[in-house]
Amino acid sequence: MAVEKALKTQKGADTSCTRPVVLSVQGLLTSDGDGVKLRRFIGSSTLSMLDPFLLLDAFDSDEPRDYLGGFPEHPHRGFETVTYVLAGRVRHQDNRGNNGVIEAGGVQWMTAGRGIIHSEMPEQHNGLLSAFQLWVNLPAAQKMRQPQYQEFSAAQIPVEYGLDGSEVRVIAGETSTGTIGPIKNVPTEPIYFDVAVRPRGSFVEALPPTHNSFISVYEGSVVISGGSFGRDKVVEAGTLAVLGAGNHVHVTSKDTGAKFLLIAGKPLNEPIAHGGPFVMNTRAEVMQAFQDFWAGRF
Ligand code: MN
Repeated sequence: MAVEKALKTQKGADTSCTRPVVLSVQGLLTSDGDGVKLRRFIGSSTLSMLDPFLLLDAFDSDEPRDYLGGFPEHPHRGFETVTYVLAGRVRHQDNRGNNGVIEAGGVQWMTAGRGIIHSEMPEQHNGLLSAFQLWVNLPAAQKMRQPQYQEFSAAQIPVEYGLDGSEVRVIAGETSTGTIGPIKNVPTEPIYFDVAVRPRGSFVEALPPTHNSFISVYEGSVVISGGSFGRDKVVEAGTLAVLGAGNHVHVTSKDTGAKFLLIAGKPLNEPIAHGGPFVMNTRAEVMQAFQDFWAGRF
């Protein structure tokens, strides 16, 4: 897989340097659920995973036929689903009596653990739906833990304003100046920042050298610095840039400004057995998940 090779060439690299782009991925247009059109960045043939991230889908449409079928009742086991809504909303309901609506600017971090059966139904607002779903793997010891939700509205997510005009919505993790996101107790110690940079602005942020990381640009375009050894890369909206080794990222924008997600997580380095909506460590555990689901044991 290209990304493993690219990350490997970075191993032994100086982690005190800026993280260069080692792979650029275009979202693959596909559909899932009941005919929901989406762009898949992680979990496709181009980038099957970026440990601990198993999937990243982007939904962005002003055409209700693209998404109103939604994701009717389906199960999950063994990982976490993170839904972040930029426009429109997502209505959810599960088999444990939880239900609610994720509004624009809000996030739902669902730890599926041993099992959840839920539905996720996108709705438009002023004709728009725009959202991301990220799947974050759980370590073997926590795959069968009790399910849990962490849900926060736009108003509950802190925003950090940089001197250079950048705006960072801190969903998970901590910025280098100490703004802490509301999502807590996730074993892969994720960073999930939604960053807006002004035209001809810049953004520099520390990232733990232990983590895999990427930037997914969804508006405008940015230049990601390659530092002393790499090459600067232009990354346009609709592109995910996998970052190599280093301890910080340096992003600048040109005349348009830009918006992007900066996401990082500690790799688990565990075997993965992926069976549809179940992500376990062995085939036997995936078969057990199907049996438990069919037997109504979720
Ligand atoms: Mn789901």
